Amino acid sequence: MTKEESRAINSVDGLQSALARFGAKVIDSHRDTYGDVDGGSLQEMAEQCGLLVTVMVTEPCGENCSCVENGDFPQYCLRYPVGLNALIAVLAKFPGEGSTV
Ligand SMILES: [Zn+2]
Repeated sequence: MTKEESRAINSVDGLQSALARFGAKVIDSHRDTYGDVDGGSLQEMAEQCGLLVTVMVTEPCGENCSCVENGDFPQYCLRYPVGLNALIAVLAKFPGEGSTV
């Protein structure tokens, strides 16, 4: 991971840049794997771009969080950076052409 990729996202521009880097990595990986990008690779790319952030938690984040399934605390949980939940919610309300969000 480069220093630039490990920076925390703290602005709209930073979020847009992270999403662009992630998209480029996914497309590149798609080409390298002949269209068979696995979930573990997607998670790794998202972490490298700051779109998934590892946080130590001592209790469940919420009833719908994947850390609830594990049940053993403390544990590491992956969270979205600030702003990504809001962006996902906006895209769901105003889907653009070709959008499935
Ligand atoms: Zn969690």
